Amino acid sequence: MRLSRYFLPVLKENPAEAQIASHRLMLRAGMIKQEAAGIYAWLPLGFKVLRRLEQIVHEEQQRAGHIPLLMPTLQSADLWRESGRYDAYGPEMLRFKDRHDREMLYGPTNEEMITDIFRAHVSSYKELPLTLYHIQWKFRDEVRPRFGVMRGREFLMKDGYNFDLTREDALHAYNRHMVSYLRTYERMGLTAIPMRADSGPIGGENTHEFLVLANTGESEVFYDAAVAGLKLGDRQVDYDNREEVADICKEFTSVYARTDETHDEALFDRIPEDRRRVGRGIEVGQIFYFGTKYSAAMGATVTAPDGTKVPVEMGSHGIGVSRLVGALIEANHDDKGIIWPEGVTPFHVGIVNLKQGDAATDTACEAIYGALRAAGFDPLYDDRDERAGAKFATMDLIGLPWRITVGPRGLAKNLVELTSRRTGESEEMTAEAAIARIA
Ligand code: ATP
Ligand code: MG
Ligand code: MG
Ligand code: MG
Repeated sequence: MRLSRYFLPVLKENPAEAQIASHRLMLRAGMIKQEAAGIYAWLPLGFKVLRRLEQIVHEEQQRAGHIPLLMPTLQSADLWRESGRYDAYGPEMLRFKDRHDREMLYGPTNEEMITDIFRAHVSSYKELPLTLYHIQWKFRDEVRPRFGVMRGREFLMKDGYNFDLTREDALHAYNRHMVSYLRTYERMGLTAIPMRADSGPIGGENTHEFLVLANTGESEVFYDAAVAGLKLGDRQVDYDNREEVADICKEFTSVYARTDETHDEALFDRIPEDRRRVGRGIEVGQIFYFGTKYSAAMGATVTAPDGTKVPVEMGSHGIGVSRLVGALIEANHDDKGIIWPEGVTPFHVGIVNLKQGDAATDTACEAIYGALRAAGFDPLYDDRDERAGAKFATMDLIGLPWRITVGPRGLAKNLVELTSRRTGESEEMTAEAAIARIA
């Protein structure tokens, strides 16, 4: 992309309404624009990151054997009456009527709808196990929407639902989700710690939240420092192998890590003192096993091998896709701007032309731009007629991992400059060497 033809409305001033770094930087870098309280338009740069996160979530869900579909944002109140949640959900639910006076709502989550889809089409255990998921906008009329996309009212969530014959099968689905989530966050360059959580209003017996440590997080967390060092790495996981998947879950959950809701002071005190940590975290996902709560209420049954009809065992599993954009920035920024991890960056590399209009410099930049694209990269070429300082400030603000700086002085020696956004280190080399280093 050429910056002269892009839409990147960066702000020079710090927006007064932003209290935390990620909100401030998303506004300044022209990623989002607020349209109403907790409701945002995703401008091109923000949209690009959001799409990257979606892509990673899709790939990791499908790797675990989960099947994508798409349910609508609008739902009928009648479905929620069947589960009993229409009255229970409270003012967080946005309710309205259509022209025929039918009661509708904007979905805050989809347990009822997916259970309805399941019961319409599945009647035998032979069609199980089944896990369906979608990535769709949700609406929750939060009392205090704040921190930009971190606590929006409209937000993008991946929500998946497993259907199994037995409790053991459903727990395997739960574990599959835990491992696939660990992989998902790691691919984004994030450490998200699974912490035992409270089942709350959805109800259930087995639930973990995934928390990114950050002092701006809204949850208080208590953990053993050892848990923050655990990594899945590039282990190949066979998601059908129950023991293998369960062992990974055990590895990540046997070290103490809990939110304030489930914190146990006596257990915490058993951790060696130098490893005890109290901090704050951002909830970027949650997995739930809740058994037959919805299937029993809504008549989602299957015929078991012995011919009896049993309610299907279920769980629901969410990832806060839009919140993750904020969480990523909270974890990756400095005083100049964002520092994108390679896996989620909106563009791989920025090219800065120090002397726009100078024939040799323009030609060299065009050649690098073309070579990067031919090599499969997505570069952002700052071809505007701007001062070098302004170009550098924009690149630092939007946080691309690499910058190639091209000017007449270097070109005289056949050199360009390659700069790492994370380390700030610059090195002179040929354009070919710079392209090779990025790859
Ligand atoms: P929170 O405790 O932050 O209110 P939640 O527990 O109500 O979140 P879940 O029902 O577990 O949320 O939804 C799954 C995921 O969706 C959460 O882990 C979070 O990452 C994301 N999420 C929930 N509410 C919001 C929101 N208002 N804005 C952005 N993301 C959200
Ligand atoms: Mg909530
Ligand atoms: Mg929560
Ligand atoms: Mg939650």
